[in-house]
Amino acid sequence: MIVVLKQNPEQGQLDSLIAWLKGKGVDIHMSVGANQTILGLIGDTSHIDIDLIDALDIVETVRRVQEPYKNANRKFHPQDTVIEVGGVRIGGGGLTLIAGPCSIESEEQICSIAASVKRSGASMLRGGAFKPRTSPYSFQGLREEGLRLLSLAKKETGLPIVTEIMDISQLPLFEDVDVIQIGARNMQNFELLKAMGRTGKPILLKRGLSATYEELLMSAEYIMAAGNDRIILCERGIRTFETYTRNTMDVSAVPVLKHLSHLPVIVDPSHSAGRSDLVAPLSCASAAAGADGLIIEVHNDPPHALCDGPQSIRPEAFEALVKKLRVIADAMSEAAV
Ligand code: PEP
Ligand code: MN
Repeated sequence: MIVVLKQNPEQGQLDSLIAWLKGKGVDIHMSVGANQTILGLIGDTSHIDIDLIDALDIVETVRRVQEPYKNANRKFHPQDTVIEVGGVRIGGGGLTLIAGPCSIESEEQICSIAASVKRSGASMLRGGAFKPRTSPYSFQGLREEGLRLLSLAKKETGLPIVTEIMDISQLPLFEDVDVIQIGARNMQNFELLKAMGRTGKPILLKRGLSATYEELLMSAEYIMAAGNDRIILCERGIRTFETYTRNTMDVSAVPVLKHLSHLPVIVDPSHSAGRSDLVAPLSCASAAAGADGLIIEVHNDPPHALCDGPQSIRPEAFEALVKKLRVIADAMSEAAV
């Protein structure tokens, strides 16, 4: 249920409304906008008399919210959520670029890629240390050592770092990590999501391989219900009947998720396509669809990459792509004025 208040509500009446609602056992999420204050009621509201609230002087309207996600719902929080991390902003306009290899392979590799993507305009560095691989015989990531090397690249470049966690037991190793990624395969690992809710760090939440928008938003809701509202949603391609591409990038995810939720939405064109030649066009399409950012796999030697070489672009290709994306991002922000 959401309660939209009249402008400048009388404080005493507001306090007693909040106290009364809390007494009914619901949590309240207050969103104060420039023109409107909204109380989002979370919990079982079936026993709350909507007409009673509607009749109050300070109340403009009351509506029941049908969607099962509340904290993540734009109805609860009409303005875009902007996530700030290490001086970088994601959400609320602009196109934030996250780039780096699929996996951290060596100090040389991660530090040189970090330096080059930074020069080209990336504002965050990605790199996997714990890798979810389909085969147990494939490279599983450098794990703890990988995180150490990623931190080193952060220290050298100043870029905030994004990396995937696969199990709660790994959390103590993530102290220096700026944004924790929950990969597609773990999108519905509910215990892991709850643990992410208890961290103070932003979470990059990837859409599951065959998850609906509502399922993705319910996973965000798990993290938010546990106390963390700094979430970045990520479209990374879904399973379809098409086999030419690794997955099918669902470009609709961008406007739909931004309509349903206030959380920032980014796109991963690399895992969507599985092919380096499609990374640029899919990135451009995502930017034009209104994505808040992109996460792109960049490798200095794709044919010899230990993971996801075929979808990794070279640093030079990333540099050229950033130039194109700037044109699109500028046109988008002009159109928004
Ligand atoms: C990754 O980002 O390297 C990754 C494994 O992503 P996803 O979970 O989207 O497959
Ligand atoms: Mn990858």
